[in-house]
Amino acid sequence: VICTGSELLQGHTLNSNLAFLGAQLDGIGLAVSREVSVPDGREAIAAAVLEELRTADVLITVGGLGPTSDDLTREAVAELLGLPLRLDAEVLRAIESYLADRKIRVPAQALRIQAMVPETALALPNLNGTAPGLWCRSGGKTVILLPGPPRELEPMFVESVRPRLQAMCPPQTYRRVIRICGLGESTIAEKVDSLLASFPGIEPAYCATPALVDVRLSAELALQPRLDQAMDQLIALLGNAVLPADCPTLAAAVGAILRQRGWSLATAESCTGGKIAAAMTDQPGASAFFAGAVVAYSNEWKQHALGVRPDSLARYGAVSAEVAREMLDGLLSRYDVDAGIAVTGIAGPSGGTDGKPVGLVYIATGAGHSVQVQRFSFPGNRDSVRTRTAAVALNQLRLQLLHETASASGGGVNP
Ligand code: ATP
Repeated sequence: VICTGSELLQGHTLNSNLAFLGAQLDGIGLAVSREVSVPDGREAIAAAVLEELRTADVLITVGGLGPTSDDLTREAVAELLGLPLRLDAEVLRAIESYLADRKIRVPAQALRIQAMVPETALALPNLNGTAPGLWCRSGGKTVILLPGPPRELEPMFVESVRPRLQAMCPPQTYRRVIRICGLGESTIAEKVDSLLASFPGIEPAYCATPALVDVRLSAELALQPRLDQAMDQLIALLGNAVLPADCPTLAAAVGAILRQRGWSLATAESCTGGKIAAAMTDQPGASAFFAGAVVAYSNEWKQHALGVRPDSLARYGAVSAEVAREMLDGLLSRYDVDAGIAVTGIAGPSGGTDGKPVGLVYIATGAGHSVQVQRFSFPGNRDSVRTRTAAVALNQLRLQLLHETASASGGGVNP
């Protein structure tokens, strides 16, 4: 993969296209062997293409297909592959109609540049922009040119590139991935290794983020039944720590349980400042199970919006099991919801003391009649503490919802 654009090298734009392409290609069993980012400029692009074509069978370039003077990928690749550029009347019509629909006027020359297609190349429709992608073949190599804006590249890859790559390079391996929450990478690896001792030929791989660990098992295609058996045993072994296959995030897993029960959730957030609510509302249709959030950062807000007692704040401090519990109680009683999450903690970098260091967090969750309050000490900077708090809070509620039974009554505090 060659990504073009000085903005990528200067740190102005995060190379999200590479992350997208890497994940997509991995998903169809194709390994990206190398990625190179080059600044704008025909020479830099041509040199990179020439270099990579020495070893790669399939090359994807990203960016530089637009109408401006720094968009030179099309010309550079066409010249290197020895494919003269020709004006494609059909592409020109598609661009004109895209612009006419949006009442956008563009100089004729800019239209023509984007309608130039290397001889024998296939133009890939761009549903969200003007420049088409280009699928070029020459001398046994395939070079695929994609536009830089992610909103153009992503649908184009999914609709036009992925199916063609799949047909051209059928998968050699079989893989399955599970997402695990609440267990550390090394604990998981120990369990996986001992299980896989009875399943030769199956390779594990791990990818850990602060709150989740993805475990991937892969094997050659012929071992599919064996891999399925190993994966089923692993899922049974890890139990509730495994997120359902159709829930890519913790919030989605929580949402799925709430939706199934017809329950509603609200959050009372101090140190997370609404992150948990944001994760819940990231999901389409969240209004079916998410009622709202109170971001109660100051002591006054904890009192007025949630009914936390001034006496508790004075006696135990805002970051305490008692205040977390009162935040939750206030939330559940005032806002008429079935489940709640309340968090209070010290995200830092300042505000910590010997008794209450940065990273100290209390999480209270309530589901039906059961209440849980837990104390945590998270490592890392402000961002990491807040991210972990949100994830761990969602997982605490998820496990509670899974365990909670209709007959549960009363509550236990487990500080
Ligand atoms: P355009 O017609 O918009 O000029 P293009 O194919 O010429 O399309 P570029 O000019 O290279 O694409 O990039 C356009 C914009 O797309 C950049 O300003 C940047 O915001 C975004 N972009 C480009 N490459 C990447 C990348 N690798 N990751 C994320 N965003 C990118």
